[in-house]
Amino acid sequence: MTKLRRFSLVAYQQPLCETIVDCPEPKGSEVLVRIERCGVCHSDLHMQEGYFTLADGKTLDVSGGRTLPFTLGHEIAGIIERAGPDAQSAKIGAKVAVYPWIGCGQCAACKAGEENLCNTNRHLGVSADGGFASHVLVPHPRYLIDYAPLSPSFAGALMCSGLTAYSALKRLASRPERGPVLLVGLGGVGMMGLAIARALFHQPPIVADIDAAKRDAALAAGAAQAYDPSDPQARKAVMAATGGGVMAACDFAGSEKSLQFATGVLGRGGKVVVTGLLGGTFTMPVAMFAIKAMTIEGTLTGTLAEARELIDLACSGKIAPIATRDRPLEEAQAALDELRAGRVVGRTVLTV
Ligand SMILES: [Zn+2]
Ligand SMILES: [Zn+2]
Repeated sequence: MTKLRRFSLVAYQQPLCETIVDCPEPKGSEVLVRIERCGVCHSDLHMQEGYFTLADGKTLDVSGGRTLPFTLGHEIAGIIERAGPDAQSAKIGAKVAVYPWIGCGQCAACKAGEENLCNTNRHLGVSADGGFASHVLVPHPRYLIDYAPLSPSFAGALMCSGLTAYSALKRLASRPERGPVLLVGLGGVGMMGLAIARALFHQPPIVADIDAAKRDAALAAGAAQAYDPSDPQARKAVMAATGGGVMAACDFAGSEKSLQFATGVLGRGGKVVVTGLLGGTFTMPVAMFAIKAMTIEGTLTGTLAEARELIDLACSGKIAPIATRDRPLEEAQAALDELRAGRVVGRTVLTV
C-alpha cells in the first residue's frame, strides 16, 4: 500500500514531526492528489502556535477543531493520482491546483457559494489534513482547478495569498474606475494584490509600507507611488496626489496603524477592505462613517468561483508571477521558523 508521508503538528508550539501512515483510498467522490508543491503561509504560523493575537494581550484560540497529529499547508498544487467511484470527472494524471477552503456543503453559507465562510468547514490545512505531505485527500473533484500554463508554485500560491488579494480587490466594486487604488502592507498578500491590481484596473495602484525595501520592490513591480505611513507627511501627500483622497483601499496588514492610515486618506464614498490579521484595536468617531460615507469591510480568503476566475486571469498571462523560493518538504519547520523571524522575501514553497 502507498504510504502518506507528512510533516505534522503533533503538539502546539512544537516543531513539526515526520509521520508516515497508509495512504487513504478515495471513497465516493473523493480524489487523492499527489502533492508537487505547497506554499508556506503566515497563517500556518498561527495554527502551529494555536492562537491569533488580537489586541491588548488578548488572543483568539485556534487549537480546537482538529485532531493531532495534523498536517498544515493550504497552498497546494499536485497531480490527480486516484479517484473514488463517484469522481469520474477527475482525470488521473492531471495537474491541478487544490481549492482548500472547502465547506460542509449544507449550511446557508455553503449553499450561497461561500464555502470559505462555512462554520463547520473542512478547510485543508486548517480543519482537515493539508499539504505539507506527499498526498492530500480532496472530498470532490470540483475543488481541483487546471492551471496550465502556470508553474505549480504560482498556482498553489494563488489559492491563498492570491485569492485573498483578488477577493479584496473585487469588493472595491467600481471605485477603482475613479482613481488609483491604495494598497497598504506589502507582504505576500500585498505584493500579490499589486500584481492582480495591475491586471484588473486601468490605473496602477499606489502603495504604502513602513519598509523601504518593500516600497522599492513595489515600485519596481509597477506601483505608481509608494508612501511610508509612519512619515507624518504621508497622509497629506496622498491627499494631494489623489485630488482629495482615495476611493478604494485594501489593508493587507491589518494593524491599528495600517487601518488608521487607510481610512485617513479615504475620500468621500470611499471603501477599505481589510484582509490583514496583524492585530490591534481600531477606533473611529462613529459620525465619520456618515460624514465620509465610508465603508470598511473584511474578507477571508475567497470563494471557489473566485479561485476559478483568478486562475483564468493568471492563465491569460495578465498577472506577473511572484518570486517564489523552493525548499524540500523536509525543511518545512525551517521554512516556518524563517517566516516567523521575518527573514523571508517572496513566497516559500515546499517541493515534494
Ligand atoms: Zn494562507
Ligand atoms: Zn457549510
